[in-house]
Amino acid sequence: MRGRELRGELDAFLAEMEQDLVAFRRDLHMHPELAFAEYRTTQRIAERLTAAGLTPSVLPRGTGLICDVGSGDGPTIALRADIDALPLQDEKDVPYRSTVAGACHACGHDVHTTVLLGASLFLAQQAAAGLLPGRVRLIFQPAEELPGGALEVMAQGGISGVDRIFGLHCDPRVDVGQLGLRSGPITSACDKIAVRVSGPGGHTARPHLTADLVFALAKILTELPAALSRRVDPRSSLSLVWGKVVAGSAANAIPDDGVAEGTVRCLDENAWHAAPDLIKSLLESVASAYGVEATLDYTRGVPPVVNDEVSVEMLGEAAEQALGAGAVVPTQQSLGGEDFAWYLESIPGAFARLGTRSPDGIAYDIHQGTFDVDEQAIAMGVRVMATTALTSLWEVGPLDSITSAMA
Ligand SMILES: [Zn+2]
Ligand SMILES: [Zn+2]
Repeated sequence: MRGRELRGELDAFLAEMEQDLVAFRRDLHMHPELAFAEYRTTQRIAERLTAAGLTPSVLPRGTGLICDVGSGDGPTIALRADIDALPLQDEKDVPYRSTVAGACHACGHDVHTTVLLGASLFLAQQAAAGLLPGRVRLIFQPAEELPGGALEVMAQGGISGVDRIFGLHCDPRVDVGQLGLRSGPITSACDKIAVRVSGPGGHTARPHLTADLVFALAKILTELPAALSRRVDPRSSLSLVWGKVVAGSAANAIPDDGVAEGTVRCLDENAWHAAPDLIKSLLESVASAYGVEATLDYTRGVPPVVNDEVSVEMLGEAAEQALGAGAVVPTQQSLGGEDFAWYLESIPGAFARLGTRSPDGIAYDIHQGTFDVDEQAIAMGVRVMATTALTSLWEVGPLDSITSAMA
């Protein structure tokens, strides 16, 4: 690896800053804000960045911000944190418990935000000392949980000119001090579908003179998942599961209308892209066999986060340098969704799992009102993010800018 050893500098930075960062996280935790309502959170971040001599640019809706550190001709590396909370009740009994009824940082985005703030302050010091051979774009993204905040950032040009992007997510199944990594897909896609069938309706005595809508709907309910299992590579684990079916009102009347709703989950990016057209054509062929009309309403959620191999290597090497040998552990692809995926549809990057479990401590889960982290994870995250940004700039940047930066 090219460049300098950063551990000593990060040790000194964190010796001074760690308690301050923990306090920052606790303040966010006490004042959670839901998707696209993160006004206070955005202001708190902006104040800290401005005080460090940076120039944050708040997104047009007033929540979330983007800020560049350094302006060199070198490459641009983006670091992303999500800043929104969940509409859940905080069930913890801690001094920093949420003060907002029905809102809670139960997905750890307060930790992601604080980690990125810490990395930002360290990188600002590096830039001021002329040690940043390129540019680091800090993305404090709103509304991950909606999801959709990533698309808002992209619509504002947030990743234009960015060569690589990195992000972290708290993982309460991984010990603090460790980082879970995986090449390829690390989260899953999840979409919603609604099928509406219609026909003339009629007496159950004479199905042949009308279209037997309930029978056709039942065929759709079983045939669609069955056909998908034969038309899509089983390794993509594309699954259509129905959650709601409504049709009819009397035992002896064939209705003229029926609805089925369900979710489509998928581990593979290509299968996800192909899913809407495939489901539509299968639906039409089943419906036409029984003489009913069928329409498909397909609502896209997020694609899977697909980690780029080179970026995973960069992040892994940086994490080993920052946290010590053996800190990087393999992780599985989760069935959850994460809108970081949208960035990786456009540019290479990697998303990692930041260990937040105290060794032998309580096994929390995210999206629950009891979720909490071992706050040592904040300093660990800062080390990983700051080291990743600098080592990636050194890796892809021109050699002369490194030598001049180190001179
Ligand atoms: Zn979440
Ligand atoms: Zn999350």
